[in-house]
Amino acid sequence: MSVRAKKFLGQHFLTDQNIARDIVESLVATNLTRILEIGPGMGVLTNFLLENKNYETYVIEIDHESVVYLHNHFPQLKDRIIEGDFLKLDLAEKISQQPFALIGNLPYNISSQIFFKVLENRELVPEVVCMLQKEVAQRICSGPGSKVYGILSVFLQAWYNTEYLFSVPEYVFDPPPKVQSAVVRLTTNGRTELGCSEKLFFKVVKQAFNQRRKMLRNSLKSFSPQIEELDAVLLTRRPEQLSVTEFIELTNNIEILITH
Ligand code: SAM
Repeated sequence: MSVRAKKFLGQHFLTDQNIARDIVESLVATNLTRILEIGPGMGVLTNFLLENKNYETYVIEIDHESVVYLHNHFPQLKDRIIEGDFLKLDLAEKISQQPFALIGNLPYNISSQIFFKVLENRELVPEVVCMLQKEVAQRICSGPGSKVYGILSVFLQAWYNTEYLFSVPEYVFDPPPKVQSAVVRLTTNGRTELGCSEKLFFKVVKQAFNQRRKMLRNSLKSFSPQIEELDAVLLTRRPEQLSVTEFIELTNNIEILITH
């Protein structure tokens, strides 16, 4: 018996074994042996993860029917099958206090929330390999100057190298999704200190991209009316033209303004 696909859980099951193997083989950090898979469904990736005897695989799945299926088909996983919501999972407590890798064919409806959780736990998660909606994959992996460069690109690229690995067509899923898919890899860039207030950096980036057509001098006015007086070339640009390093510089400039 297979699992009945539930749309509200973003269930589109991958049916192509070669693609599943390619996704699992895209994990590169050889020092990471503990792996957490998000949303295993019927275990198409899990199967390949379990073939690698160096891995200690954990899975988290929200769908009870899938969890029952996984217990029946992968008894060796035993209590490493966690039934629950990844977004609510305490990673350090339930998975490990040591770094581990994340993998998954993500439920597309919550992919951004998953990345924000990854960011919060970035010290624990040095590598992520996942399949997601192609547009989101392109966004995450694009740099300044690209039309799709946005909030998530800047936040993730502050701490990760992001790579677009390959595209995946709709017809290898059951049921096929309405959108195209792609696989990306995030690996830590080793940054420990951002070089500015993290809280303010998040605020500045968000505010800047909320009005992405505007020059930064105008879109960031709410931080301080004195922003007009800052003699920064950066402020004459639009957010999509700024690299992570330039956003850090901008955040420092704004911090000086609002603390004096
Ligand atoms: N890995 C399977 C595959 O490739 O065929 C299923 C992928 S399907 C796109 C996404 C999976 O994530 C589903 O099995 C769904 O039940 C599960 N899921 C959805 N929301 C979740 C959440 N918040 N936490 C954990 N799993 C979730």
